[in-house]
Amino acid sequence: MKLTYCPKCQAEMIEDAWEEISELSDGSLQQEIIVPAWVCSEFCGYYERIIH
Ligand SMILES: [Zn+2]
Repeated sequence: MKLTYCPKCQAEMIEDAWEEISELSDGSLQQEIIVPAWVCSEFCGYYERIIH
């Protein structure tokens, strides 16, 4: 298994899903679920999309 480290806090990255919430111009929120992604185990906010 590939093991990577968060460039922000050097914690291990875990393979997970990441939800990205963005605000649209009309003020409504749109939730995008990014699957799969490497997510920082400290949940500092860093993630990396896994491209197969
Ligand atoms: Zn981190």
